[in-house]
Amino acid sequence: MESQIKKIHQQLVSKQITCTALVQEKLELLKQNTYNSVNSLLDTLALDLAAKVDAKIANDEEIGLLEGIPFGIKDVYMVQGTYTTASSDLLKKYKSAYTATAIQKLLDAGAIPLVKENCDSFGHGSSSENTIFGAVKNAINPELVSGGSSGGSAVNVAKEYTVFSIGGDTGGSVRQPAGYNNIYGLKPSYGRISRYGLMAYASSTDCVGPLAKSIEDIRIVLNVMSGKDGRDQTSYVSEEISEASVLESKEIKTVGYFKNFIESEAIAPQVKADFLASIEKIKAKGIEVKELDFFKSDTLVSTYYTLAMAETASNLSRLDGTNYGNRIEGENLKDTYSITRSENFSEETKRRIVGGNQVLSQGFSDAIYLKGLALRDQISANFDKDFKEVDVILSPVTPASPPKIGDSLNDPLAMYLSDAYTVGFSLGQLPTLTVPQGTVTGMQVTAAKNNDATVLKFANFLKDTL
Ligand code: GLN
Repeated sequence: MESQIKKIHQQLVSKQITCTALVQEKLELLKQNTYNSVNSLLDTLALDLAAKVDAKIANDEEIGLLEGIPFGIKDVYMVQGTYTTASSDLLKKYKSAYTATAIQKLLDAGAIPLVKENCDSFGHGSSSENTIFGAVKNAINPELVSGGSSGGSAVNVAKEYTVFSIGGDTGGSVRQPAGYNNIYGLKPSYGRISRYGLMAYASSTDCVGPLAKSIEDIRIVLNVMSGKDGRDQTSYVSEEISEASVLESKEIKTVGYFKNFIESEAIAPQVKADFLASIEKIKAKGIEVKELDFFKSDTLVSTYYTLAMAETASNLSRLDGTNYGNRIEGENLKDTYSITRSENFSEETKRRIVGGNQVLSQGFSDAIYLKGLALRDQISANFDKDFKEVDVILSPVTPASPPKIGDSLNDPLAMYLSDAYTVGFSLGQLPTLTVPQGTVTGMQVTAAKNNDATVLKFANFLKDTL
C-alpha cells in the first residue's frame, strides 16, 4: 500500500478535506467500534489540535508532513493529563503527569493523538485478552484474538481507525499483533527511540514501535521518534533513514534463516510450506540463502521469560498504592500493600511477579537468573557471528495462525510458546519488522543492531517479490 500519511497530507494541503472532519470521522469510528480496541478517546485534545491545523491551512501557511495526521497510542505511554491505565485495575484512574519523549516528538511534529489503545495489562500477554477492557478482537476475523500485547493498536491501524499507532515491543508485542492483523509493525534497535514515559515492563528489551499499513509510513514515524534523549541513558544518536535509501536494496545479497525454527514440531504445516515457498521466490531473484543454526525455541522462550519476569517483578514493585494506583486500605501498611496488589493485578501479572521474585531470590538466582543472563550473551554472540555471513535473517512471525478468543487463556505455557520466533531477536536488541506477506501471519525481517535501514530496504524488496 502507498503511504497513507502522504496521501492525507496532500488532501489536507489541497483543501480536499479538513483536518477537523478527518479527526471527527476517525473518532466516530473508534467510538462505534466493536473490537474493544479503545481504552479512552482523546477527543477534546484531538479536535483542538485539528482546529489549529485547519487555521494554518486556511491562512495558506505551510504544514509539516505529520501535521494533522491522526494516530493511536498504546495505553502504556504517558500523555500529560490523560488516563494511562496499562489496561489494569491498579491504574484504572491514573492520569499521566508528563508526556513520553516518543509521543512528544510526534506532537511536536503536529500529529494528532486520538486514542489510548487496549492491550495486555502491563504488556503481559500475546493475545490482548489480559485486560480489564475486554478482549481485543482480530481485525480480519473477530472470533480470533488480535494478538498482543499491542492488540488494540494493530486493530486500529488494520481497520483504518488510526493512520498509524505506537505500540510497545518487549518480546514481540508489536510484531506479533501486526502479523495477526496483516499490517507492518517495527521493533527498532533497542535504544534508537527513547523509552522515557513508556511504562516499564522488561527494561532491557522494551522498545517503542510503530504500526502502519506501509513501509513508508513506518519510516516517516521512525525518523521522527528516533534520537538521543537525556532521560533515557540507553538511547543514542542515529542517522535519518531517507526515502531513497529504502528503495535501494542492491547491497542485500545474502539472507539467512534458522533451520530449527522451520523444522520445529510446533510450526503449522501451512506456515512452514508458505515460508519455504517465499524462500524459493527470494532465491529466484538471485539472492543467496543460507540455513543457519540457532538455539532451540524453547531455550529462547525460557531465557526471555526468566529475564522478563525478573525485570517486571522489579519494575512493578513501585505500584503499591502509595504513590501510584488504586489503594485498598488494610489493617496495617503491609496488609495495605498486599491487598492493593493482590486485588488490582491480573492473574497473569501476578504469575509474572511471583515467578520474577522467585528467580531473583537468594538460593535461586545463580541457577536461574544468572544462567538466563549468560544464555542471553550466547544468543547475542550467535547473532554477531550470523551477521558476518548474512545481511538479513528471515523467519515466520509466529508458528501458527491466531487462536480463538478464550482458547489461549486456559494455557499460559502454550501462550508463551507462541512467542517462539520473536523473543530471540528482542534478547539480541536487534531491529526487526513484520511484513504482511509470505505466511498467514507475515514474515519477520531482522538485521544487525543499528541497521534499521537494512530492514526497511529488504521489506521493500519483499513487497515486489512475494
Ligand atoms: N508476549 C510477550 C510477553 O508476554 C511479549 C509481550 C511484549 O512484547 N510486551 O512477554
